[in-house]
Amino acid sequence: MSYDIKKYQQGEIVFHGGDSSDCAYIIEQGQVEIFVASNQTIIDILNEGELFGEMGVLDQSPRSTSARALTPLTLIEVKTQQITNRLSESDPIVKALVGVLLKRFRSMLPNQGMVSKNSLLDQVASVIEQAGLSKFKLESELRGAIVEGEVQTVFQPISNISSQKIAGFEALSRWTHHERGFISPVEFIALAEETDLIIEVGDLVFTRAIELLERLPEHVFININVSSKQLDDDEFLNRVKAKAKAHAINPSRLKLEITETMVVDFKLAKKWLDKCRAIGFPVCADDFGTGHSGMEQLLELDFDVLKVDQVFIRNMFKSKRYEIILQSIAQMAQALETKLVAEGIESDEEFQMLKKLGFDFGQGYFFGKPMSEENALKLSF
Ligand code: C2E
Ligand code: CA
Ligand code: CA
Repeated sequence: MSYDIKKYQQGEIVFHGGDSSDCAYIIEQGQVEIFVASNQTIIDILNEGELFGEMGVLDQSPRSTSARALTPLTLIEVKTQQITNRLSESDPIVKALVGVLLKRFRSMLPNQGMVSKNSLLDQVASVIEQAGLSKFKLESELRGAIVEGEVQTVFQPISNISSQKIAGFEALSRWTHHERGFISPVEFIALAEETDLIIEVGDLVFTRAIELLERLPEHVFININVSSKQLDDDEFLNRVKAKAKAHAINPSRLKLEITETMVVDFKLAKKWLDKCRAIGFPVCADDFGTGHSGMEQLLELDFDVLKVDQVFIRNMFKSKRYEIILQSIAQMAQALETKLVAEGIESDEEFQMLKKLGFDFGQGYFFGKPMSEENALKLSF
């Protein structure tokens, strides 16, 4: 990558208030003073490694302050596009915060009249602020809902394909918002994963699963979805381990589901699996077949269970390709002696086909929808 380096003598002006803002600068060597030209007030002195001149770039308005070399100075130029590209790719909350900070800072400076009304941030500010702030609002509400017990856990049966008996359940989170009604876990789990709220959701789910396991026959297991933040957090894993021990639940009855898309860094995934195994939790590869990881590398991770994604089951009678893929996954799992689960089974026809292919377990509306703990306990095992 080539850098544009600029050099200035001591006392030389880098930019004047009112100049157009076509780049920002990082100080490679020396010191810069930022001042308001009209009354010569110095508002900042910056040192090596610091960034300046970014404000006008962010909202595409002329410089509202001036900058002068306090010492002989070497600067690296950061082009407008480098900054705006990053900003346009950033989280709406980050954009909203940058926008709010910028507005607030500008309001403290003289010559605010120079800020262009049609700036990049002005154009998108209201949309971004709305999106970012409504996300903030939802995040606070989710926090409240967790504390108030509004985030529920439901359990969907997983059946043994050959005996058709219930072998276990998958625990799934549910949130009914007081105004918005049902919010899909896809939405609120993603929100929780962006913050540490996923740890709290995880604590809830594990606690309820352990309580249910206490009331279920010893051979019945519960699968729990976990995300990377939970697996990176040793305290979280130790807490779950201690909870299972305190309730005399064998950890082998708690199977952790890791989605294939989480396996980006193989070394890290290996670490997660080793940690879970050391505690005694079996690990299931969720949404198997949908990620972008190579099959060989995935198999090297040696999951205890592979859960084939619903997309294969939904399309197995529509396209020969899906049927062939299912067949080869089944053969491979048998050769490796890895347990195989199919999810999203809705019809008897699908069930019969998966039985023929040799799948061990099945999950889907055909066997049962996600249900409350009370209803789960009414089933026969
Ligand atoms: P998933 O882990 O792949 O869960 C299976 C999803 O398929 C569930 O959606 C389930 O209700 C749905 N499903 C089950 N059987 C059928 C069927 O026969 N037909 C159809 N069309 N759908 C079926 P749900 O509950 O909306 O959850 C969506 C995703 O949200 C889950 O996908 C999981 O990735 C995530 N999730 C849910 N609860 C939690 C949680 O407590 N923690 C974490 N980390 N993720 C969770
Ligand atoms: Ca799952
Ligand atoms: Ca899945």
